[in-house]
Amino acid sequence: MSVTQEQISQLKKAIPSLTENEPLASHTNFRIGGPARTYVVAPTADEVVHTITAANEAGVPWEIMGGGSNILVSDKGVDGLVIQAAMRDLRIAGDTVTCGAGTIVALAARKAAEAGLTGFEWAVTVPGTIGGAIFGNAGCYGGEMKDVVASVDAYRIADGVRVSLTNAECRFGYRDSLFKHERHVILGCSLTLVPGDATAALAKIDATIAKRKEEQPFAKACAGCLFKNVEFTDEKEIEKLREEMDVPQAFIDKKQIPAGWLVERAGMKGYRLGQIEVSDKHANFILNLGGGTADEVAQVISIIQMKVRDQFGLPLKTEVQFMGF
Ligand SMILES: Cc1cc2nc3c(=O)[nH]c(=O)nc-3n(C[C@H](O)[C@H](O)[C@H](O)COP(=O)(O)OP(=O)(O)OC[C@H]3O[C@@H](n4cnc5c(N)ncnc54)[C@H](O)[C@@H]3O)c2cc1C
Repeated sequence: MSVTQEQISQLKKAIPSLTENEPLASHTNFRIGGPARTYVVAPTADEVVHTITAANEAGVPWEIMGGGSNILVSDKGVDGLVIQAAMRDLRIAGDTVTCGAGTIVALAARKAAEAGLTGFEWAVTVPGTIGGAIFGNAGCYGGEMKDVVASVDAYRIADGVRVSLTNAECRFGYRDSLFKHERHVILGCSLTLVPGDATAALAKIDATIAKRKEEQPFAKACAGCLFKNVEFTDEKEIEKLREEMDVPQAFIDKKQIPAGWLVERAGMKGYRLGQIEVSDKHANFILNLGGGTADEVAQVISIIQMKVRDQFGLPLKTEVQFMGF
């Protein structure tokens, strides 16, 4: 059922900065997606909570987004309210970085390095916000949010209570967290880093950026890695994979097969459908060459999943989050 003009008028009274029919393609790294029926940028935690309360009272379904770097928005858009978390406050005291969920991850990584705090340099190449990074336990080059998060402030949707969660309570796993299973809006967090040398930390930042540019089509329209790597725990399964697939020892040691390796082995590197292309630099990156649609991306996802399942018997799960489907 569509959101009515009456509901929108009620929402507008509570949130005067609300805009209508906001094109979401311009708010996502994929550059894909129809409009949000209503859209609001929330610069403080109080405004996020107020906006959600108003949406619930008006019966308007809502979604939260950060930097839009890990979402695929449907071509028809979102028939409801999209809230952009834009709480960008950032404080550094001692070994602790405290920031709002809308803080840009790369900025937090750079500021921490400038302050002589180490252990977060890897994050400089992760697009998007701290809230999105906590949601998906973002990571790369051996680092993950779970290694640095001390606590997370969130608004728990089930009972409308603001909570402060410890690292353990966030239940971080590989590209996973509590927040993927129990709806919360992440409002902010504290990160604990390791005091060190600012010059060395900044040099590491530069090296990380250079490495990323070399390995991935960094400047292209995409949502980062489309699929999660395949994790396995069963020794028999590992033995079977070794026999049947010639899996490199490094993957076996890590108990994880990179999704990009599977996509490439399935012959899908460079595959193109309409304006959507599987990158020939990194097969887990699916690129929008310009004017591509969510429908095309969805088709490419299912073709890849089918090929990998048929050839290797392995299920590929998506890392990208879907909105408006
Ligand atoms: C070129 C490129 C490279 C990338 N490289 C990496 C990488 O190396 N490692 C990696 O892990 N990821 C990578 N990504 C994916 C992406 O950068 C991360 O997943 C990022 O953390 C998403 O943050 P975001 O703010 O953009 O979230 P969005 O894309 O806006 O949202 C993603 C999900 O998080 C939820 N969310 C966002 N903010 C909040 C909040 N405040 N409260 C609750 N839920 C929220 C949204 O509802 C959505 O489900 C890459 C993406 C691109 C485009």
